[in-house]
Amino acid sequence: MECPRDNEKLEKVLFHNIEADYCPECLGIWFDKDELRLAKDDKDKQLNWLDFDIWRDTSRFDFLRTQRLCPVCRVMLVEVKYDDSKVKIDFCKHCQGIWLDRGEFKQIMNYMKRKADYEILHRYTINLTKELWEVFSGPEKFRDELADFFMLLKLFNYKFIVQHPFLNYLIENSQK
Ligand SMILES: [Zn+2]
Ligand SMILES: [Zn+2]
Repeated sequence: MECPRDNEKLEKVLFHNIEADYCPECLGIWFDKDELRLAKDDKDKQLNWLDFDIWRDTSRFDFLRTQRLCPVCRVMLVEVKYDDSKVKIDFCKHCQGIWLDRGEFKQIMNYMKRKADYEILHRYTINLTKELWEVFSGPEKFRDELADFFMLLKLFNYKFIVQHPFLNYLIENSQK
């Protein structure tokens, strides 16, 4: 698989049983749909993800075609934006994978840190990620961000898998 930005070959990073692909050049991260699915575990059932505030209002999503290619299917990715959050995600509506630029990852974390729910979630994932330390395989620079990264995976799992049919509908209807 190749990086949608610079065509560098993507490498594997492993968090617990979740595998993602990152670009050693620009540090963007690719998540397959199945990888997102795996991010969900039994402990999640104790959390009410439906009440999680971020991106709750589906009418505030915005979509834009990009020139970037999905590393898996080689079709154009769609940029998904939410309101004024500056959070952008590249989404493949064909395979439902997600590409995150390094900058986008930071933006998402900053956005979430301004939300009250962040503290609760963060504590939750910190506890989880402590158990994951020993099975972590990936570049050191990702290590510090493991908790954030893991939380984001769970969030995406919910937003893009559970709510995918509706998001997909919005994407279809935003492209004239
Ligand atoms: Zn890259
Ligand atoms: Zn794809």
